Amino acid sequence: MTFLPRIPGRRFLHSPGPTHVPDEVVHAMSRQPTDLADPRVAQLIAACEQGIKRLLRTDRAEVLFYAANGHGGWEAVIANLVGPGTQILVPGTGHFSDGWAEQVRAFGGVAVRTPYVEGHPIDAAAVEAVLRADTQHQISAVFVVHTDTASGTTSDLAAIRRAIDAARHPALYVVDVVASLAAAPFEMDALGVNVVMGASQKGLMVQPGLAFVAADARAMAAAERITTPRFYWDWQRRVSDLPYRKFCGTLPMAHLAGLEAALGLIEREGLANVHARHARLARAVHAAVQAWAEAGTLRVFTREAAARSVSVTAVEVSQGIDPEALRTVARERFQVAIAGGLGPLGGRVFRIGHLGDMNEAMILGALAGVQAALQVQGIAHGAGGVDAAIASLAGAAR
Ligand SMILES: *Cc1c(COP(=O)(O)O)cnc(C)c1O
Repeated sequence: MTFLPRIPGRRFLHSPGPTHVPDEVVHAMSRQPTDLADPRVAQLIAACEQGIKRLLRTDRAEVLFYAANGHGGWEAVIANLVGPGTQILVPGTGHFSDGWAEQVRAFGGVAVRTPYVEGHPIDAAAVEAVLRADTQHQISAVFVVHTDTASGTTSDLAAIRRAIDAARHPALYVVDVVASLAAAPFEMDALGVNVVMGASQKGLMVQPGLAFVAADARAMAAAERITTPRFYWDWQRRVSDLPYRKFCGTLPMAHLAGLEAALGLIEREGLANVHARHARLARAVHAAVQAWAEAGTLRVFTREAAARSVSVTAVEVSQGIDPEALRTVARERFQVAIAGGLGPLGGRVFRIGHLGDMNEAMILGALAGVQAALQVQGIAHGAGGVDAAIASLAGAAR
């Protein structure tokens, strides 16, 4: 094993998940567990369910939690909605929609895809065309990744709702909000979304390990018709007032305590303010990358400005530049942890996460660390990236 020296001072975590965990959440997660019959347990669960419902803007969905990561949340959706031969439309968004589609196939489902065009969000017209062509209504659901964390691209959920409606197709609308919830606006009921899945470690500011699903009555009824063998993931089995049934065993108390604290922080700040803060910090990051881009060696990966995620920015580098080496220098010399490229973007991008418990100084620190790493690596970049971010923040309305 390599000897890793102690690092003085604070390290900057700018991966797009896991994200920085606020002290209030750290402390909440360090409490002793309680016995399962303690009425505080039921109270904790209710607080988390109600808080998630408020965050999703739904008053009709059932919220179910799993001791799992995001892939577990995906599996919860699939185990309940996908049987052998079930057709699911998974519009192309890049790496994360590919991963979800692969998991659908692992359960014997058929993943119908729309093409993914690099740097662009989901093409709602392509979604509409596939659904229109499905005159027998064989496709039972559309699985949409709201923000693809690998590309830093956010798709227009209202446009996809309109596409489903325009095709007069009864498919369920299922949305992965893992990377967008509590960062970008989302309204489950207003969008007519039937199922939402998410995870704790991104915008929700909790340690990794808690996933959730919110399902409405139509989705619950559809699940009853699917006979895929399932137990732990089974929605019907979990609809109960008994904590032990609701969680299919002992609940992950520390994670729920952390989530309760995090939801409290979000509500104290105000959801609209949380969204505005994410948009403001994202603009500052984009301003910095645009300034660096002037030397022609790197650029924001998402072409359409409106589709740039408020959670994470993928920065594409020219051939011959090694983003992994840049990452190592940023982390080991400047204490700024950024993310690398996933799947087909491996070796082509680095990613700066700006979601969750984030403020102006943290963003400026992260950008300064990345800029310093660009310099150390001798990567040509336009001057004044950090200054451009400062100008963006200083000029931003609050
Ligand atoms: C991170 C992420 C996942 C997967 O979450 P894990 O906890 O890593 O399994 C799924 N979807 C999106 C959009 C994500 O960003």
